[in-house]
Amino acid sequence: MEKLAQSPTNRDYIILTDSLSSLQALKNSESKNPLIQRILLMNHTLNNGANKTTFMWIPSHAGIQGNELVDQEAKKALNNSAISCKKLVTTQDAKMNNKRIVQQQWRTEWLQQKNRFLLQSKPDALRKDPSWLPRRDEVIINRIKIGHTKLTHSYHFSDLYPPPCPLCGSPDFTVHHLLCKCTSTPEDIRTSEMDTLLNDRQSILKILEFLNNTELYGDI
Ligand SMILES: [Zn+2]
Repeated sequence: MEKLAQSPTNRDYIILTDSLSSLQALKNSESKNPLIQRILLMNHTLNNGANKTTFMWIPSHAGIQGNELVDQEAKKALNNSAISCKKLVTTQDAKMNNKRIVQQQWRTEWLQQKNRFLLQSKPDALRKDPSWLPRRDEVIINRIKIGHTKLTHSYHFSDLYPPPCPLCGSPDFTVHHLLCKCTSTPEDIRTSEMDTLLNDRQSILKILEFLNNTELYGDI
């Protein structure tokens, strides 16, 4: 369109595209997208002169002769160093792309971390669990997920030795022990997979019930 706008040829043109969303975006003359604004401006310039342009949507792979050929040429153009795509990238696109890169890096680093407990309880670093529990229960479950509770870690602040399990007396007392090893823990909790246990609503309710029944809730 830039070429046409620069050198009027006294002809009418039909621009065929399989991008319906682009055509819908072009309908909005108030669009703030700089790419849409540029196309609309060029279209206005063209239609003020000798040329007339019409946009037409064609479904991709609609069996139209030459469609594949045009598709191949467009793909070749992407790798042509003489054609700059820089002008086609908007600030929003760049921001979205940067966000994707950071998120990918975050996920990769999360998967490499050494805290296996945390990794099991939150396999995807970016997943946001909707809040559905009362605030106090949510705090308790988050402490359980992190693996750091008053019960298992407060000795660090008081210069004491790690406490044994208050339920079975085992000296190896961790959140993992409490949920998965302790003989006093209900079997359906103890035998569940950790990521299921800490992410499934029914299982979370069972953990809260177990903590209440054993009066450990207030010490988490
Ligand atoms: Zn125990």
